[in-house]
Amino acid sequence: MTNRIAVIDRDSCRVEDCGLLCRRLCPLVRNKIEVIKVDDKGKPIISEELCIGCGICVNKCPFKAISIVNLPGELEGECIHRYGVNGFKLFRLPIPARSTVLGLVGKNGVGKSTSLRILAGKLKPNLGVVEGDPPDWDSIIEYFGGTSLKDYFAKLASGNLRVAYKPQYIDAIPRVFKGEASRLLSKLDERGVMDYIVSILELREVIDRRVDVLSGGELQRVAIAAVVCRDADVYIFDEPSSYLDVRQRIKVARVIRWLAKQDVMVVVAEHDLIVLDYMSDMISVLYGDPGVYGIVSYPRAVRDGINMFLEGYIPSDNVRFRSQPIRFQVKPPTQVAESIDIEYSWGFMVKKLGGFTLRVEPGFIRRGEVIGILGPNGIGKTTFVKLLAGLEKPDEGDALPGGVKVSYKPQYISGDYDGVVEVLLRKTLGDRMESSFFREEIYRPFRLDKILDRRVSDLSGGELQKLAIAICLSMDADIYLLDEPSAYLDVEERLAMARAVRRIVENLGRVAFVVEHDILVQDFIADRLMVFSGIPGVDGYGHQPMDMRSGMNMFLKELGVTFRRDRQTYRPRANKEGSRLDRIQKEMGEYYYTAATIEEE
Ligand code: ADP
Ligand code: ADP
Ligand code: SF4
Ligand code: SF4
Repeated sequence: MTNRIAVIDRDSCRVEDCGLLCRRLCPLVRNKIEVIKVDDKGKPIISEELCIGCGICVNKCPFKAISIVNLPGELEGECIHRYGVNGFKLFRLPIPARSTVLGLVGKNGVGKSTSLRILAGKLKPNLGVVEGDPPDWDSIIEYFGGTSLKDYFAKLASGNLRVAYKPQYIDAIPRVFKGEASRLLSKLDERGVMDYIVSILELREVIDRRVDVLSGGELQRVAIAAVVCRDADVYIFDEPSSYLDVRQRIKVARVIRWLAKQDVMVVVAEHDLIVLDYMSDMISVLYGDPGVYGIVSYPRAVRDGINMFLEGYIPSDNVRFRSQPIRFQVKPPTQVAESIDIEYSWGFMVKKLGGFTLRVEPGFIRRGEVIGILGPNGIGKTTFVKLLAGLEKPDEGDALPGGVKVSYKPQYISGDYDGVVEVLLRKTLGDRMESSFFREEIYRPFRLDKILDRRVSDLSGGELQKLAIAICLSMDADIYLLDEPSAYLDVEERLAMARAVRRIVENLGRVAFVVEHDILVQDFIADRLMVFSGIPGVDGYGHQPMDMRSGMNMFLKELGVTFRRDRQTYRPRANKEGSRLDRIQKEMGEYYYTAATIEEE
């Protein structure tokens, strides 16, 4: 059963010529139900809550501007798995294909990991049967009759399909494997590619260390290398870019593309849209009601698939799953006016930590400004943030003056609070929790209502991240420091987070520094950029904040990656190395913000 509603294509609507015919003829409006309102340009807007999808307006509109779409609903007879009575339901499955990277994108909680675990043979699908005997493999294979998944599950059930799988959460690896990373990799190197992969993923210096002392980014790359070294028919990666910097994300994407060329099937779930776009051939969008049900769309070519996700509309099912499309702009944001007072400034700073030395150029930040921080892992970004926060003292130079109130969200957040979310929020925020500011800017956009009565220790990575950001932004502070706020968040949550940070900083006249590896998020959130370069773990150099264009150019030049713009959504897409646009842009020195290279196809 699906809900149907009318939607209006604003470009086709010519209200000045028809005199708002749809509104006059809609039976609900005649019954004084405000289903069609009028916006400030005089054009009609149809309410999703009130429209009954009768279709009368569709036929009456002289300019064919109105159509009927379905709202997402559960699909009778297509349930692949259900987690118990009243549990989450998954409808349809991604369809892997040989020599193809199939990318999955969708909100958290709509079944990406569930789909991947089913394809990996870690979870036997029950076809929605939760009472009585679950179906046996024969019935499951029969269910997929007529599709390529029949052969897939027949081989999986008989042990003739080899699957290599990297789970979303990698922190369990050190618990099951004790010893050096090199021992883990040699044990799994069934294809004799370990040396090649170790060198591409820059793991040479790391592999002699024990798995339990590796950083998040190192462990992620070891886990990916371990999967790639296996000899399998299907390779599955659940969120491979968590903890990785931009350069490492691009390297991992290249390894995954290389893998698919070996006549194997590859499936990847990923929230960094630039990385997903770069590595995938096909895309399946997952949509639905997080935690309740999820539907997997049929695979589409990568560009169409990601655009479909951004549009929030699945043409093959005629379903709209988001009321507003996600849009990008080509031009860099206008900067905070130079006339606005400088709020804080810092001097040239030096900080030594063991064998690592960080040097930072002097800089300043204006009121209402967000400075984005970009750079490789291990280059001193967190150390800089801690110097600003007063958690570390510089060996030379001056950080910020004393008495500045700083609210800091660290990179790694701990969930070991023994209690429920609401109690923690009340304890840390007190009366602020009742303020309309908290309700409008934080509680609602972060959907905190969904986790209020959950235990903090039971929250998923994304839920914990949202809670930590919400607490950080709710504090009364002069400066907000957010270290990797988008880790574990889905695309929509990342954009909601970026909007919340911007609104708080702009409306309250505060300032923020944001360390972030998702380039799209930096594009949304930052007014200016600080680029860190040098030799990770040895020498870090923080350049003074620059305008977005100069910052992106400096950062991307070092990486050797240029971006063109998608002609429909204007989203940035990484150019293939050595392609025509890549060469032209490198010659121009324009790596990111350039209207000249909107796709021509
Ligand atoms: P995604 O990967 O898209 O974030 P998941 O597949 O991890 O989504 O989860 C989808 C839903 O299924 C979530 O609401 C989650 O709570 C629920 N779920 C996942 N695993 C289990 C399980 N073992 N038992 C019950 N519910 C589960
Ligand atoms: P980033 O945030 O850019 O990943 P960090 O600022 O966390 O980098 O770390 C920069 C370097 O400093 C890393 O090599 C890290 O191992 C080292 N480092 C950080 N803290 C300490 C410390 N307390 N003692 C010794 N080395 C440290
Ligand atoms: Fe626009 Fe069609 Fe409605 Fe007229 S009838 S206002 S053209 S949508
Ligand atoms: Fe009104 Fe029916 Fe059109 Fe909805 S579909 S706006 S209820 S006429």
